[in-house]
Amino acid sequence: MAPDQNDRSAYDDGNVFARIIRGEIPCDKVAESAHSLAFRDIDPQTPTHVLVIPKGAYVSSDDFSAQASDAEIADFFRLLGQVARTLGAVEPGYRIVANHGADAHQEVPHFHMHIFAGTDLGRMIKPVEKQT
Ligand code: AMP
Repeated sequence: MAPDQNDRSAYDDGNVFARIIRGEIPCDKVAESAHSLAFRDIDPQTPTHVLVIPKGAYVSSDDFSAQASDAEIADFFRLLGQVARTLGAVEPGYRIVANHGADAHQEVPHFHMHIFAGTDLGRMIKPVEKQT
């Protein structure tokens, strides 16, 4: 059965981002703030591909938006914006993505947002066939 994304006891302390936060495995750090960390994706999908994560134990965007403090949420989005500016991605543009759960193919069960930049990213997501 898929883990309940709202069950905080479902947070897996052994996930790769938890291990990065604890310093058990390295990351290519871009920036850090009181509650958040930004580092380059190990398997970049675009010329610039950075992940922003909260340091707190949140499984997903649903968990983070419901359970994180205002300070953590503000810190997260401040750092995300700062990183995009530092990367020079504000012009000509960038995309932020958070995958939540099975349908979005979330692989790492620690909330993160992707910053994609450095190329024309096309329009939105690949269209799916209409259901009949
Ligand atoms: P998602 O499908 O949204 O859960 O994406 C997880 C992302 O984490 C993928 O883009 C992976 O390439 C990335 N990733 C996995 N392990 C590491 C790691 N050790 N350092 C940096 N990025 C990683």
